[in-house]
Amino acid sequence: MRGCPNGCRFCHAGIYYRPMRVKNKNLIIEEIDHLVFDAGYREVSLNSLSSADFPEVSSLLDILNERYKGFNVSFQLPSLKVNAFSLDILEKLSKIRKSGLTFAV
Ligand code: SF4
Repeated sequence: MRGCPNGCRFCHAGIYYRPMRVKNKNLIIEEIDHLVFDAGYREVSLNSLSSADFPEVSSLLDILNERYKGFNVSFQLPSLKVNAFSLDILEKLSKIRKSGLTFAV
């Protein structure tokens, strides 16, 4: 996802990267396929200004866990707003391997 739906007044990135644009789930999976199967990566970061605000983050994590469960691939959400984060997301992120979380308060 590029941009952020929150529009905090103090945040340069939130303003500069407007309008918010959500990447297609199939394109994300296609890019991760390339990273995992062609380049051999086993850690993937789902980057954006506020990753938990991605509209389908929960279903995307379900798909990714199912697709890569045999390859020991871990997924990270490096930029999480505390109030957009849920235990459901945490469980899905730690399903295959433990990974890092970074919170913004
Ligand atoms: S949630 Fe974070 S990235 Fe989004 S506008 Fe606010 S400070 Fe910026």
